[in-house]
Amino acid sequence: MSPEQTVRPAEWSEMDGVLLLRSVATAMVRLSEIVSPGTFTLPYPDEAQRALNDTVLNCLLLKAGPPESLPRLIEWAACRPLDRWPIAMPPDVVPPGSLLLDGATRQPTQLCYEWAVDTEDSAARHSEQQYMALASERCREEDYPEAYQAFRRLLVRRPVLTHRELTTLPAARDSDLGPLGDLLHDVYQPAPAAYLDRDRRIYTACARCHTLLHPTTGGKLWCERQRCRELGTVRPGREYRADEGGGSRLLIRPLRQWVSAPGALEIRLARQLTSIGADVELWPGFGAYGMRVKFPDGTTLAVDHKDWANPALLGRRATPPSPDPPYDRCVWVVAVARLRDQPDFRATFERYRRTASPELMTDRELLRTARQLTGTTTLGARHPAPDGEPTEGLF
Ligand SMILES: [Zn+2]
Repeated sequence: MSPEQTVRPAEWSEMDGVLLLRSVATAMVRLSEIVSPGTFTLPYPDEAQRALNDTVLNCLLLKAGPPESLPRLIEWAACRPLDRWPIAMPPDVVPPGSLLLDGATRQPTQLCYEWAVDTEDSAARHSEQQYMALASERCREEDYPEAYQAFRRLLVRRPVLTHRELTTLPAARDSDLGPLGDLLHDVYQPAPAAYLDRDRRIYTACARCHTLLHPTTGGKLWCERQRCRELGTVRPGREYRADEGGGSRLLIRPLRQWVSAPGALEIRLARQLTSIGADVELWPGFGAYGMRVKFPDGTTLAVDHKDWANPALLGRRATPPSPDPPYDRCVWVVAVARLRDQPDFRATFERYRRTASPELMTDRELLRTARQLTGTTTLGARHPAPDGEPTEGLF
C-alpha cells in the first residue's frame, strides 16, 4: 500500500495523482463539448494538451509506459479503469473499475464530471451553480417562488425541448416561468449530432428519464444515467425528428447531472414522505436545499438527494445548507442501490467529510426515520415499500 493512504483530505487534494486526475477529467469534458469528436487536430485544446503533458510526465516519473497521443489518452479514459492507471493516490479516491469515458459512446461518465467540478478553475463552467444561482436571484428579486418551482420542474421533467417549445413555453398562458423565460435559451442547447440516428434522422429519448439516448458503436442505445442502464435494456421513449419543431434542444449536461437527476429522485421521495404523513416542500427558499420535510411533532429536516459516484469527492463537499428556511437536522440521501453497489461508499464518505453534518442516509433509512417521527409503522397502502429500485417512469 502506498504511504499516501494515510494522508488527511486537506493534503490529499494537492497530491500529484489527484491533480492529474482532475486535469484529465476536465480535458475529457472539454473534448466532449467539441461538436465533432474525433475531428480535432493539432494544436489540441489547451486543457487536453495540458492533461496529455501531465500524464506523460507522471508516467515517466513512475517509469510507466505513457499514452503517446491524445487519441491514446482518450482510449485510456474509455477502456482502462482508473485504479489501473499509473497514478500514485489513496486507494479510496477512485471506485474500483470506474472509467472517465463510457466505453461504447466515449461520452464523459458521471464520475468524470465529478472530478471536473473538483477542479477550481473549471468548477463553475462544469457545474450547475451559475445558472441555478441566477434563477434563484431573479425569482427572489421579483418575489416569485412559483417561477423558481416551475423552472426546477421543467428541468427535471423535460431535459429535451423542441426549438418551438423553447420559444412558446415561457409565453404560454399557464406558464409560470416569469423572469426565467430567456434563461431557457442558455440552458437548452441544440442537441449534439452524436445523439442523432443518422439513417432515420431522429433523436430518441429515454422512456424512463427522458434525456436523449446516445447510439453506440454496436447499434444499441445508451442512457447517461447509471440507474437506467442498471435496469437492463434501456427502453426508447419519445422520438424527435431532426427537424421537428425547428430542431431538438437538449438541457446542458451539468444541469442534467446536478439538477434533473437528483430532482427526479427528490420528487419521488417527496411523494413517499407525504404519504407517510410529513409535510414536504420541494426546493424551498428559492432552492436553498432539496426539500424541507416537516413532521407532526414539529421536527424539520433539510434533505438533499445526492447522486454521486465518488464518495470521497462527495465527502469533501459535505456542508450544511443555508438555514433559510430553518431546519433542525440536515440529511443527504443516497439511493440504497448505490450503497449496495459500492459497499465502501459510506465509510469513504465519512473519512473525507470535514463537518459533522449533514447526516448521510439511504432513502430507505430516511423513510424509516420518517415513519418513526410520524408514528406510522407501515407505509400507506397507496405506495409500495421503497426498495431503492426506481419505479417505471419517474413522473
Ligand atoms: Zn434514462
